[in-house]
Amino acid sequence: MKIETIRADREYHVEMWDDGGSREQRDTIIDEGTESEQDAAAQEWAREECDDWARGGDWGDAGACVVVRYTLSDSDSDSEWEGRVDVEIEPDHDALIRDVGGDTECEHEWTREGQGGCDENPGVWSLGGTAMKYSEHCAICGLRRTITDPGEQRNPGECDTWEYSLPEASDEPAIVGIESAEDVRNYFRTEKR
Ligand SMILES: [Zn+2]
Repeated sequence: MKIETIRADREYHVEMWDDGGSREQRDTIIDEGTESEQDAAAQEWAREECDDWARGGDWGDAGACVVVRYTLSDSDSDSEWEGRVDVEIEPDHDALIRDVGGDTECEHEWTREGQGGCDENPGVWSLGGTAMKYSEHCAICGLRRTITDPGEQRNPGECDTWEYSLPEASDEPAIVGIESAEDVRNYFRTEKR
């Protein structure tokens, strides 16, 4: 059995970059420990730094899936590791809903009933491969949303996309006099509940 010696605290350096060409470098000191303990702690630190750096970016309301690649090096030796962290930035749903004039106060009850597709699985469509599309509406305020999910076979950086919209008059021929988001909300509150 190999006995590992305890090393003094040690400096590690990480260089990270994304597919858009942005780069970042950071350093840290890892507390004393055995070589394998320090290397493992440095790996964990590097992955957290990649995640932190990606989340600090300006991604807009739609969110993003960011692939961060990194090289971690031990400043006192030739040891070097490569890795990759996939960071999913959640969309700002309230902002997306506000953009289309939807109700951000509603505690939406999402349903796929009556959304088309096949009867056994309303509101669900296969887009080929593992990709799926889901169409839903809120049973309370009538807001609609479409989720496109690339599934397991997604390409790096490919993400779920969320689109919100208000129901259009043409979707509901019975609706007369709907001209604003407020009218839509009133309609669904009074007529459907
Ligand atoms: Zn709602």
